[in-house]
Amino acid sequence: MRPPQSSAREPSRWLHPVWNLRCEDTVVALTKYHETRDFRVTPEPKGASHLETPNKELAFVVQKHQASHLHYDFRLEWRGVLLSWAIPKGPSLDPSVKRLAMPVEDHPLDYGSFEGVIPEGEYGGGTVMVWDRGFWMPEVPDVDKSLRAGQLKFSLYGAKLRGSWALVRTVIGGSPRTKWLLVKHRDGYASKADITVDKPRSVVSKKLLADIARMHDGDVPKAAKGDPPKAVRASK
Ligand code: MN
Repeated sequence: MRPPQSSAREPSRWLHPVWNLRCEDTVVALTKYHETRDFRVTPEPKGASHLETPNKELAFVVQKHQASHLHYDFRLEWRGVLLSWAIPKGPSLDPSVKRLAMPVEDHPLDYGSFEGVIPEGEYGGGTVMVWDRGFWMPEVPDVDKSLRAGQLKFSLYGAKLRGSWALVRTVIGGSPRTKWLLVKHRDGYASKADITVDKPRSVVSKKLLADIARMHDGDVPKAAKGDPPKAVRASK
């Protein structure tokens, strides 16, 4: 199937706003984030877009999220929001492994410290863990240009993820939906170890998903499906 054409003027752009994420000239907006949530029900932060990047370290966060499917939300602070990609299998430290990263809506900066339970039936309902966080530095002179070009190189300074990485936009199997790949570059932090299995706990609370669900009246058996069996057995 070929991508739908949005207009004669912009033949290369696709209709669905989510599909356009990371392709637009203006990459940041919380419109989609706000549209998809009822803040009277979900404990997630409402947040605001600050529209510019302050002159300080740029935050990054990876939130492990057991929603209908387990994924890792990979978020980079840029221009006052968190640019976000959902990575079903999570990051890999092995440079030969490319991990699918689906672009999702920009999130408010406050979101980076959210760990808890989104009520079932709400958008993204399930348990959220702050799996890793720290700061990131671009390895390119112009981040906006690199995002538009679909190839962003950067360094991560987190508790679990470190060293040089790339997010690369790609088209897989002719699907109209934009897909990206997260890839580790070869450096001293590259490894064959499976970090998602070896380090399954929250970097903030040191808890497993099941613990977080239990603390916040969430669905514990559902959350536990995202914890490696070995880690669950060890904590009993
Ligand atoms: Mn998510």
